[in-house]
Amino acid sequence: MLKGDFPVERFRDIPTPFYYYDLPLLRRTLDVVQRQLDRNPTYRVHYAIKANFNPRILAEIAARGFGADCVSGAEVRAALAAGFPPEGIVFAGVGKSDAEIRFALQQGIARFNVESAAELEVIDEIAGTLGCVAPVSLRINPDIGAHTHAGITTGLAENKFGINYEQMDEVMDLSLSLPHVRYCGLHFHIGSQILDMMDYVALCNRINELVLRLQRAGRRVGDINVGGGLGINYQHPNHLPIADFEGWFEVFRKHLRLPEGTEVHFEPGRSLVAPCGTLIARVLYVKQGTRKQFAIIDGSMTELVRPAMYKAYHRVENLSSDEPEEVYDVVGPVCESSDVFVKEASIDRCRRGDLMAIRSAGAYGESMASHYNCHPLPDCFFFEG
Ligand SMILES: *Cc1c(COP(=O)(O)O)cnc(C)c1O
Repeated sequence: MLKGDFPVERFRDIPTPFYYYDLPLLRRTLDVVQRQLDRNPTYRVHYAIKANFNPRILAEIAARGFGADCVSGAEVRAALAAGFPPEGIVFAGVGKSDAEIRFALQQGIARFNVESAAELEVIDEIAGTLGCVAPVSLRINPDIGAHTHAGITTGLAENKFGINYEQMDEVMDLSLSLPHVRYCGLHFHIGSQILDMMDYVALCNRINELVLRLQRAGRRVGDINVGGGLGINYQHPNHLPIADFEGWFEVFRKHLRLPEGTEVHFEPGRSLVAPCGTLIARVLYVKQGTRKQFAIIDGSMTELVRPAMYKAYHRVENLSSDEPEEVYDVVGPVCESSDVFVKEASIDRCRRGDLMAIRSAGAYGESMASHYNCHPLPDCFFFEG
């Protein structure tokens, strides 16, 4: 059985649990995206840093000249500290505080992706007191249901995100009337872990419709930000370690109908960083239940909450065993019934002390870690190649 390419010998003396990051894989992934950008001079990428804001990961991505998509003032600060230039930083979020808006304006970030008329007025007022003009895009809720987990779809009219597309003209009028904001374009983001490219075709069709409406009204379109959400293959991390960026960019190349020279911005998060991260943990006990056997490991929902929070699947592998597979529920030590990584998974026979790999954990893993049960935040180990 293929177990990826883990330097298991070097793990032996590292206290578990910890995150392992395969930097050569991250670099190969960034190469694929960079080739797409070289082919498409009007495309820009802003890495969604909420997926993983580990400074080492941010530095790798910033070094490529990509921008950053931030959803809090602290993320703007982290992006700047990692070397993303302010002119590459965009700032989204339904609830930006006054302090966050002021900070981002003072740093001279590229764009506020504004999610309501109320927010637009506050940004205008704060920019006024600072004597500057805020560059804004309007985040439009396209009312498209991405075929993904209900907890991570964001583009439906019932979601809290963005401005309903029926209200776009009204909010655009407001943005044009306010003296301290400058309308720069439209922003969209339909959800996460999207594997059905038809969802992105639907987004393109909606964008084309809105662009046509603006053009007919004699309005400027500005640039178009299509957000992120590209999914990865959680089932087969060894065979398919890089997301289908070619297919993703191809959809927009083929389906978007935009005025000549329009910049198109992308905000991938998960797809850039999920495959390169693995949570490494040790088996503490193998417990025989009456109907199940449990592999109890020292990693838990405090390092990787996705299974508990979204019922997300991560492939679990035993890096120390070559014995025949058995069926286990792999669980953590936290006092919550949801602290389960996988149920009834076939895994090479587990013994106390075995090293377990919880794969594809580079996105929304370390960045969502918590101190619950007084657990310390996880350490990390970088494989340089
Ligand atoms: C979270 C987020 C992204 C990134 O989503 P992924 O599914 O990780 O690619 C992009 N844009 C916005 C506005 C976001 O909130």
